[in-house]
Amino acid sequence: MPVGVLALQGDFREHIATFGKIGAAAVPIRTVRELELCDSLVIPGGESTVIQKLAVAYGLFEPIRKKIQAGFPVFGTCAGLIMLADEILDGVSGQAGFGGLHVSVRRNAFGNQLDSFETNLEFVGVAGSPVHAAFIRAPIVERVGNDVEVLAKLPDDRIIAVRQNNILGISFHPELTNETRIHELFLRMVAGS
Ligand code: GLN
Repeated sequence: MPVGVLALQGDFREHIATFGKIGAAAVPIRTVRELELCDSLVIPGGESTVIQKLAVAYGLFEPIRKKIQAGFPVFGTCAGLIMLADEILDGVSGQAGFGGLHVSVRRNAFGNQLDSFETNLEFVGVAGSPVHAAFIRAPIVERVGNDVEVLAKLPDDRIIAVRQNNILGISFHPELTNETRIHELFLRMVAGS
């Protein structure tokens, strides 16, 4: 079965292209029917408040929430990480995500668009050269539950990548920097689930 990429808003095309580079089938998801034909889901970067509204409007919000609760493998980048967090700090009024990931994330933790930056990181489960990571109005993870493994931190110790069983969440955008190894890590999670 292909990987589904939630295609309501944000950089879903870049995620689909990244899976293409590593020979994995990935398809855009806009309906519950399309979701049922996948064995995993990527929630892209973009704007979490818009993804929330569109997921409700497309009837996908509850089905995705339930699937995550049931252990469906899911990978969120940036806004996608925000959508997976159980607690959102600095959210707008009424903001809610799918949840399931036992963390608190703070939105826009580095400031505005002009404070976006790129850096190199060590990443648990990714061998070889450091991961080149782009942060664009990125969130950080402020609290993690006991069952959450920290996969990467910034030099100042702020957490920017986590895994909890079948849930992978990262603050940055490998799909924008030609970095395929995190997508490969997710495919291994899907294969093992
Ligand atoms: N700041 C955005 C949000 O709150 C996330 C930014 C991104 O995905 N690059 O959803």
